[in-house]
Amino acid sequence: MLSYDFLVIGSGPSGRRAAIQAAKLGYSVLVIEKGRRVGGVSVHTGTIPSKTMRETVLNLTGYRERGFYGRAYRVKKDIAAEDLMARLHKTLDHEVDILEHQFARNSVRTMAGRAVFVDPHTVEVTTEGGEISRVQGEKILIAVGTRPYRPPEIPFDGQHILDSDEIVDLPKLPRSLTVVGAGVIGVEYATIFSALDVAVSLVDAKRSFLDFIDHEIIEDFTHQLRDRGMAMRLGSAVASITMEDGWPTTVLESGRRVRSQMLLYCAGRVGATDALNLPAAGLTADDRGRLHVNPQTLQSEVPHIYAAGDAIGFPSLASTSMEQGRIAACHAFQQPMPPAPEFFPYGIYAVPEISTVGMSEEEVQRRGIPYECGIARFRETSRGHIMGLETGMMKMIFSIRTHRLLGVHIVGEGATELIHIGQAVLNLKGKLEYFIENTFNYPTLAEAYKIAALDAYNRLARGAAPVAPVHQQDKAAE
Ligand SMILES: Cc1cc2nc3c(=O)[nH]c(=O)nc-3n(C[C@H](O)[C@H](O)[C@H](O)COP(=O)(O)OP(=O)(O)OC[C@H]3O[C@@H](n4cnc5c(N)ncnc54)[C@H](O)[C@@H]3O)c2cc1C
Repeated sequence: MLSYDFLVIGSGPSGRRAAIQAAKLGYSVLVIEKGRRVGGVSVHTGTIPSKTMRETVLNLTGYRERGFYGRAYRVKKDIAAEDLMARLHKTLDHEVDILEHQFARNSVRTMAGRAVFVDPHTVEVTTEGGEISRVQGEKILIAVGTRPYRPPEIPFDGQHILDSDEIVDLPKLPRSLTVVGAGVIGVEYATIFSALDVAVSLVDAKRSFLDFIDHEIIEDFTHQLRDRGMAMRLGSAVASITMEDGWPTTVLESGRRVRSQMLLYCAGRVGATDALNLPAAGLTADDRGRLHVNPQTLQSEVPHIYAAGDAIGFPSLASTSMEQGRIAACHAFQQPMPPAPEFFPYGIYAVPEISTVGMSEEEVQRRGIPYECGIARFRETSRGHIMGLETGMMKMIFSIRTHRLLGVHIVGEGATELIHIGQAVLNLKGKLEYFIENTFNYPTLAEAYKIAALDAYNRLARGAAPVAPVHQQDKAAE
């Protein structure tokens, strides 16, 4: 039986980063992947496909230019599913190619097949063709990710009723779409299809959505979606989803019915740990298939077995999964790692995009920190005029006492790139004065940082800020 220093189960962002890190430290590494190609959910059904689809839609529809040329402006008149798929396949091929090259360059071995634990150091791998082999690992990383949650009563058929993995093989562009689930994935796809002029209904049992984002940003975002004609059916749970005369039909508990040509079911994902035979390794998962780990080291209850990525739950991002993979590999092979910074950015690639880092206004209030906000609208920047932007805003939150930056929240063009300026200042414990004293390239959207900081500065000077009672104040966070 072959034996390796490090066995990695799954080749998504956490598995790949961990494998390469361990190989760079000089250890023998085997990555086991059950999919046809390496890359994980991130490359094949999640991050990259959805972001490629978004980019294609924005380009072919001319969406970004409509501020200038009007809402009827289109780059390509009739956009078909094949138009979206063509770019997608090219991008995915390129991603897989790069990853295979990285593995080869770093002498990371790969094995195609489904891994199952035999004991805490041994894994059995079964290929698609049914061949079985066993491998051993001194250290093991579980990086198996998640799969869409598919309740048995919903008649998924891959044509009319799809989950978020199936949408990347979109058979045909629908004229109307119901998206069930207003989480990040549901909201991203709902807005991408809406930008394609598909009539979209967004359904969720909760009255509000994306509650972890600053509420003022979500208000602005919601206003833009309604303005575009998206139907928001929030605050009523789904009673049933059935096919009626070839139409997916959703009946809500409120009695309302939503019919559309296609339905995308995006109500959560479950950890893909059920097929691993965890008890053989001395492990158990929670009811959503997630493993519990020490957040500092990524070790499971069995110290030589690590877990990272979506299989351990929040925040379930490719970006954070990669960092977790690296931390796990470094800890497994006794490499010192600085602790992860307190704040990481969150990007929601909806149309318009949203990005956020640090505390929301609600969080600052909850911690009782006296604060002030500054707001900038992209249409106030010269770059915004050049781009024809009518929407887009940045909100910054500062501590009144120390002037430290506490949070940055952006909705609009370039939000997911712009956020990194705020992230750097935040994690370096920078203050309001940084933005006021420094010069920004002109004309750029990044100027919004200066405008928002000056807005906060002027409010501070006027002394009109809300101050929390002293006993509720979280001084350490300032
Ligand atoms: C639609 C969508 C959009 C997203 N957009 C973003 C985004 O914009 N930004 C962002 O940061 N994140 C995004 N994410 C989240 C991101 O894709 C995940 O956080 C990330 O892929 C998790 O990485 P992972 O390391 O857990 O592995 P995954 O990417 O989940 O891959 C796990 C791999 O393990 C393999 N595997 C599973 N079980 C076994 C087994 N028993 N044996 C062998 N192999 C196995 C699977 O085949 C798979 O290839 C998105 C997710 C989705 C679904």
